[in-house]
Order: sequence, then C-alpha cells, then structure tokens
Amino acid sequence: MASPIPQTDPKAGYLELQADIDAAVARVLAGGWYILGKEVSAFEAEFAAWNGNAHGIGVANGTDALVLALRGLGIGAGDMVATVSHTAVATVAAIELTGATPILIDIEADSYCMDPAALEAAFAREGGRIKAVVPVHLYGHPADIDAIAALARNHGAKVLEDCSQAHGAAIGGRKVGTFGEIAAYSLYPTKNLGALGDGGVVTTDDATLAQRIRELREYGWRDRYISATAGMNSRLDELQAAILRAKLPHLDHDNGRRRAVAAHYDSALANSGLRLPAVRAGTTHVYHQYVVRAADREGLRARLREGGIATNVHYPAPVHLQPAYQGRTPVGPAGMAATEAAQGEILSLPMFPQLARADAERVTEAILAALRA
Ligand SMILES: *Cc1c(COP(=O)(O)O)cnc(C)c1O
Repeated sequence: MASPIPQTDPKAGYLELQADIDAAVARVLAGGWYILGKEVSAFEAEFAAWNGNAHGIGVANGTDALVLALRGLGIGAGDMVATVSHTAVATVAAIELTGATPILIDIEADSYCMDPAALEAAFAREGGRIKAVVPVHLYGHPADIDAIAALARNHGAKVLEDCSQAHGAAIGGRKVGTFGEIAAYSLYPTKNLGALGDGGVVTTDDATLAQRIRELREYGWRDRYISATAGMNSRLDELQAAILRAKLPHLDHDNGRRRAVAAHYDSALANSGLRLPAVRAGTTHVYHQYVVRAADREGLRARLREGGIATNVHYPAPVHLQPAYQGRTPVGPAGMAATEAAQGEILSLPMFPQLARADAERVTEAILAALRA
C-alpha cells in the first residue's frame, strides 16, 4: 500500500530547516540564558515587523495570549465578551479565565467566521455590557473585520483578533492582527507559524497596552521582584523564540505552498459535489485548514482512512454544545443555525506546506473515487 498521508506534519517542517533549527537550539543552550532574553526580544521585534505592528510580546501559549490581551484591555469580572462558538475551545476558555462572560455569536456559512449581523443583534440585546469582541480568523480566512470593528466601535467595545490560525492572512494586503486594538496568536507546532513546543505572541500598536502586557506576563513586575499589578507567569522561552526566529523567514513561502495545495484541491474537486472553501474577494487565505463540507462525512472519512489518508474535524462540537459550556454559556439572539449546520459536515483535508503534489493528487483521486462508490 502507498505510504500514509498525515493530515498535518510538524516534523516535516522541522526536517526541512533542521540545520538552522539545530544551530539555533545549540546557540541558546551554550548561551546560558534561558528565559526572556535576547532571542525573545528579537523574535518579538521580528514578528511584529513582519506583521505590520509596532509591538510584539512573547507568551507561553495562544490561550495565555488571549487572556493577557483581554486583561491588558481591562476586561474582567462583570464584563461580557462576544466571540464565536465555532472555534478552538481555547478562545472561549480564555475569556472565562479573565472572569468575564462569553457570549457566543453565529458564523457566516461561507467564511466560517463571525457573522457581523449576528454580532449586531447581540449588541442590540446586551448593549454596553459587551466590552470586547474576539473575532477568530478561522482556518486561515480573515473574518469580516471591517464590519465587526465598526460595530464594536459604535458600541464602545474593543476588538481582540484571534489570529491563531491566520498568521499572514490579509485583507487588501494588510495582515490580520492590525485591524483591532490588539491580536493574539498561538504558536503551537501545527499552526502556520509553529514552535517545537508551546508558544504564543500578542501584537499591538499601542505602547501603553504593550507595556501592561509585558508586566502582566511576569507577575506584574515593573521593577524586578516588585509587582505593580497582579500578574501571572506566561513567558515564551529562549529556545522556542530561537526556533521561531529560524522559521519566521520561511512563513510567507510556506503559506504560498499551502495555497498551492489548496489550488490543486479547488480545481480537482470543483465538480465533486463537495462544498469547497470560499475566499472573499480582496482577501488572502493562508489555509491553516482546507475544510470541505460532505453530506456523508463519516463515510468519506472512512474510505480515505482505508487508503491511508488522514483527515480531521475542526471541530466536532461547537463550544456551546460541549459538556463544560452547554446550558450556561449565553448565545446571541440570532441563534446558532450556521454553526450547527456546519458541524456534522465539515472535514479538514491533509494540509501542510510540505505536502507533495503527488500526495495532494492521491487525496483528490481518493475523494473522487469514494464519492463515485
Ligand atoms: C490553537 C488555537 C488557540 C489556542 O492556542 P494554544 O497555543 O493551544 O493555547 C486559540 N484560538 C484558536 C483559534 C486556535 O486555533
């Protein structure tokens, strides 16, 4: 049988840059400075510059990046924060970790991102209680951030962009993470920019906000050992920062290779009957995931598995229907029709920069054969 095709492959990303990454690791080990040193500072500056932001703050993971961004904005107990239910549960968990209450908003059926009309309905019902909005640029496609930010501004709410799946996604050439007050990114190994362990980063153009988050990530220290505010420990370590610095120069190229895989999927599956990802005009999709909709998803998945092709579901249950949240987490007045309609049909195909053309062709041939059967 042909070799298995994984759905994602962070090790392939390591092997491709092994010499550079190994040298970066050796440099840190020999340097003798392991936490918040020059590698983290350099990564923060390089990532912020690459994204088009004034400031970057390295943190321990994407969840903490969201928590710290919200805390930096002054969000806490008694506040409501609007986000989507169709996301990694981390987005919603982070809101609750600040003490705030999430309110979950439906998505647009085509982009899988927050529906501005549904957000507007939530503002109409909750008014000034909603202090922040957290749109998620899911699967690497930008949310309708102009509409969302305009609504937030009209209602005095701040915008935190969850860019954890969208490093490099853009609208009119302007990268996500530059539209709201602040943005959070996971650097988990499978993300478009991934560490070889946990990592996260926050970006903003607001120097005061950046300074507040720098303090909050390390016990609220302004001067060493003296907490000016009550903070936490969420530091990016030097090893991961050095690895990320080796990978960042390749991110644009890697996103281009993801788009090439997507272009093959688009053309080979155009007449398959599957619903393929839509790309809003003027936006740059970075295909963290390539998600199709199949009426008989489980049947298709099983056939692909027989052919050694791994797929995944992002995510099998929306947050508002998960045991930890069901029945207690408020949902916006527009309901959850688009979110719930997607859940049983979405399927993430193999997608990573190193996926060979021949393997992408094997995927589409197997899908077409399965659909004919
Ligand atoms: C991965 C992810 C997170 C969480 O990041 P961690 O680094 O795992 O804490 C948050 N939001 C979204 C949309 C994600 O995809």
